[in-house]
Amino acid sequence: MKCICPECKNLIDVSKHPKLAVDYVIECDICGILLGVRSILNEVVETEIIDEGK
Ligand SMILES: [Zn+2]
Repeated sequence: MKCICPECKNLIDVSKHPKLAVDYVIECDICGILLGVRSILNEVVETEIIDEGK
């Protein structure tokens, strides 16, 4: 399974999230942004940036 950060375009290591599913929140290792999982299709995790209203 792979996941590209929409913010920094780096590959996020999702192997440490074995229960990854839709609505799961992960953090980008590189830029530290929070990402919500929108869909998982063909081993590709699609995410969207979670705006915490800062
Ligand atoms: Zn990132």
